[in-house]
Amino acid sequence: MYRKIQVSVPDAPVGEGLPEFMTFYIDTRFTDLQVRRFQLLAGIVLASWDSHYSELANGEERSRYQECCNKYARFNLAPVWFEEKLANGSAAAAVQMDGFTTQITANGFGRSAKAYIMYQKSGSSTIKGVNASDPEKSSLSVTINATDLAKTSVSDLFLAGSLQHAWLHREGYRHPAGKYTSYFAGEASMCLMRGNLNKTSTPASFYTQWLD
Ligand SMILES: [Zn+2]
Repeated sequence: MYRKIQVSVPDAPVGEGLPEFMTFYIDTRFTDLQVRRFQLLAGIVLASWDSHYSELANGEERSRYQECCNKYARFNLAPVWFEEKLANGSAAAAVQMDGFTTQITANGFGRSAKAYIMYQKSGSSTIKGVNASDPEKSSLSVTINATDLAKTSVSDLFLAGSLQHAWLHREGYRHPAGKYTSYFAGEASMCLMRGNLNKTSTPASFYTQWLD
């Protein structure tokens, strides 16, 4: 059983009409607290998208997200549907955010398939997004480990990175199984989790344990 929930879309300066809400159909086995946390996580991913465009609209040449991706992302810079070559991580981050705008509007205006938030009681994945290839048509469906979603020992920002990563798979990004460092889909999510700050001596596994 699934029930309909919504998440507000910020008024990001993307130069096109945006829906007021995104819509998800969430498994009724998630508790109210877990549903609210999912909405919070989606809100954090949307806030990072808004920040990217707001920084550019304020005259920055690159957003902080672009600067971060540019420092660390080397491989698989382009999603599967992108046919040109991307010069660097900054250009890759710009393409990714534009693709996310497509995903947001396709969901909010009902052009894409319905987004299901599927339930998993526990397991090795935190949030899993099956690989997809068309941001205009593919849903933002993911499977969430309810045990992890209930953990207070992990920050909302880290779980937001997990959600953003699952959505990168839905957007058309790939990386070899278990490899995140230097791959765009891994570094982009770790950038979100670090608030786009530089890496420190903290091992990558501290972040990637939450990625699928
Ligand atoms: Zn992944």
